[in-house]
Amino acid sequence: MRLHAKVLIVGSGPSGSTAARILAGNKIDVILLEKNLSFVKPCGGGVSPSAFDEFNIPKTLIKKEVHCIRLVSPKGEKIDVELRGGNLAIVKRGEFDKVLRNAAEKEGVKVIEGECIRVIEDTKYKVEASVGGVETQIISEYIIASDGVNSRVRTALGIKPSQSIFTVSELIQGVEPEFCEFWFGSSHAPGFYSWIFPAAEGVSAGTGCVLQGKINSLFKTFKERRGIMSGKQRRVYRIPLWKGDLFNKGKVIFAGDSAGQVLPLTYEGIYYAMKAGELAARAVIEGKAGNYKKMWKDRFQRRFSLMDKLRRYFFKDDASAEKFVALHKRSEVQEASIRLWLRKDRNSLGIKEYIKLFGKFLS
Ligand SMILES: Cc1cc2nc3c(=O)[nH]c(=O)nc-3n(C[C@H](O)[C@H](O)[C@H](O)COP(=O)(O)OP(=O)(O)OC[C@H]3O[C@@H](n4cnc5c(N)ncnc54)[C@H](O)[C@@H]3O)c2cc1C
Repeated sequence: MRLHAKVLIVGSGPSGSTAARILAGNKIDVILLEKNLSFVKPCGGGVSPSAFDEFNIPKTLIKKEVHCIRLVSPKGEKIDVELRGGNLAIVKRGEFDKVLRNAAEKEGVKVIEGECIRVIEDTKYKVEASVGGVETQIISEYIIASDGVNSRVRTALGIKPSQSIFTVSELIQGVEPEFCEFWFGSSHAPGFYSWIFPAAEGVSAGTGCVLQGKINSLFKTFKERRGIMSGKQRRVYRIPLWKGDLFNKGKVIFAGDSAGQVLPLTYEGIYYAMKAGELAARAVIEGKAGNYKKMWKDRFQRRFSLMDKLRRYFFKDDASAEKFVALHKRSEVQEASIRLWLRKDRNSLGIKEYIKLFGKFLS
């Protein structure tokens, strides 16, 4: 079978479906290829509330709202940060992704369940895909690679995989915290954190580190420390570490996790994936794939670089993590963090305030 479209988008997570909807809304012919339409991405599902208005997403998808974030230091100091004036929304990922994909389909996007296997570069791109077991060729002028952290498009074009954090998470029922908890400590999350996030039912608990082999024993240590029982649906998945070195190769644009665009330190990726999808679509509409890099950098480079420096400083050992939590006792640090996490506007005061408050740690 042979199919043609101006743009082929591989992957229908937040980044792919957002790009597809915008392109189709601009009368551009798009195929959205998704290897598993029932896939549920392992994810805490935390989204800043402003994203719902910005992307016109129905607020009925919000399953819970979190009013407070608890930080727990390696030595056990607990700081509660009230999210004054802005709650964190929790969505159910399977449902959220489906609604975004359906919105794209309504705009006229052709959604195909199939797996991208190979990418051949010629005068146009030729993607070989398996669609219901049938070998299919999709010919397009542009490709948007929204196929996540294990991007096949990336490998097919000979680009090295991104460095990443390994995470393990479980759904635990019968626990009903009112807030998101971030637990720091090298005994259970070296270089990262362990978390408890309210989920649609119960909580999502998990931990992360750079070494895959250790992840299950670290998670056991965390559950003992936090005093929680084992849950169900244990999932191991990677979160990319941002490097900021991949935008496009010719007319193939990388958006979201495939480009490592997860905010360092907080490891939020949903909003940034949708935004990258939007910018990738705009670059295609402008007819210049290279414009994507400039648009992304103008909007996010400063924020990502700053957060990456802070991550390297504060997550390097227990003493630094202890300092990070203690700093959040100060109300001005809390304010700056809330702004940076929950408000995404271009001129976010959060960045300037972060530099003022944390600059001395970065020199
Ligand atoms: C445990 C965990 C918790 C997280 N919690 C949060 C959180 O609370 N808040 C937050 O903002 N971020 C969170 N993230 C990060 C967030 O999940 C990602 O950044 C986000 O999903 C990236 O979206 P994306 O569209 O780029 O990729 P994905 O959502 O990964 O979507 C990629 C899609 O591509 C498809 N695909 C892959 N390969 C192929 C192929 N060869 N052919 C066709 N289709 C393919 C996949 O099936 C998938 O549907 C978390 C991540 C993890 C691992």
